[in-house]
Amino acid sequence: MFIGHFGVGLGAKKFAPRTSLGSLFLAAQFLDLVWPILLLVGLEHVRIAPGITRMSPFDFYDYPITHSLVTSAIWSAVVGAGYFALRRNGRAAWIMGIAVVSHWFLDFLVHRPDLPLWPGGPKVGLGLWNCWVLEMFLEVAIFAAGAWLYLSVTRARDRIGGYALWALLAFLFLGWVASLIAGAPPSERSMAWGAVSMWIVVPWAWWSDRHREALT
Ligand SMILES: [Zn+2]
Repeated sequence: MFIGHFGVGLGAKKFAPRTSLGSLFLAAQFLDLVWPILLLVGLEHVRIAPGITRMSPFDFYDYPITHSLVTSAIWSAVVGAGYFALRRNGRAAWIMGIAVVSHWFLDFLVHRPDLPLWPGGPKVGLGLWNCWVLEMFLEVAIFAAGAWLYLSVTRARDRIGGYALWALLAFLFLGWVASLIAGAPPSERSMAWGAVSMWIVVPWAWWSDRHREALT
C-alpha cells in the first residue's frame, strides 16, 4: 500500500480541519517513515525477492518495531499524545492517532502474511499484492476519496495553495505508478534511502496546506 496511506491523510482533514496536512501525512505514513531509518541503522531488515508477490518485490521478514499491530498501536498513542501536548486539541489528537494505526490495517490488506500481531507473534496479511487489479483499484479509490474530501473542506488562499497541492498529488500518484513499473530497486540500501526521501512530502504538504484555508 502506498498512495492509499496518503488518501487517509488527505481525508482526515475533514475530521481535523485545523490540523495541517503535513501533520496528517506524518501520521498516516508514520510507520513507513520510521521504517527506512530502522533499516539503515540495522534494527529492522528487508530483502529484495522479485516475484514474492506479483506487485511488490520485497520480503518484509523483520520489521516488528514499526509494523506489528501492538507496536503500531503504541506509535499511535505516542503520536496522538505528542500532538495533544503541542496543540491541545483532543479531537485532532485522536484523528492523528487513528491515522497512525490505520497504516497497519491498510498494509494488512495488501501484504502477504508478514505483518506480526506483536513482535515475535503470528504474522498476518491478506496478500492483495497478488491481485493487482483489485489492489490498484483499492489504492486509487482511497487516494481519490481522500483527495476529494480534502478539496471539499479546503480552499486555496492564493496560487501556491492550488499549484503546490496539485503538484503534491501528482508527485504521489506518478511516483507510485513509476515504482510499479520500475520493479525491484538495485539494493536494500538504495531502497531504504528512497523511502527516507519520502520525508519530503511532510514539509511539502505543510507548505501547500498553509496556502489553503479550511472551510469548516
Ligand atoms: Zn507500511
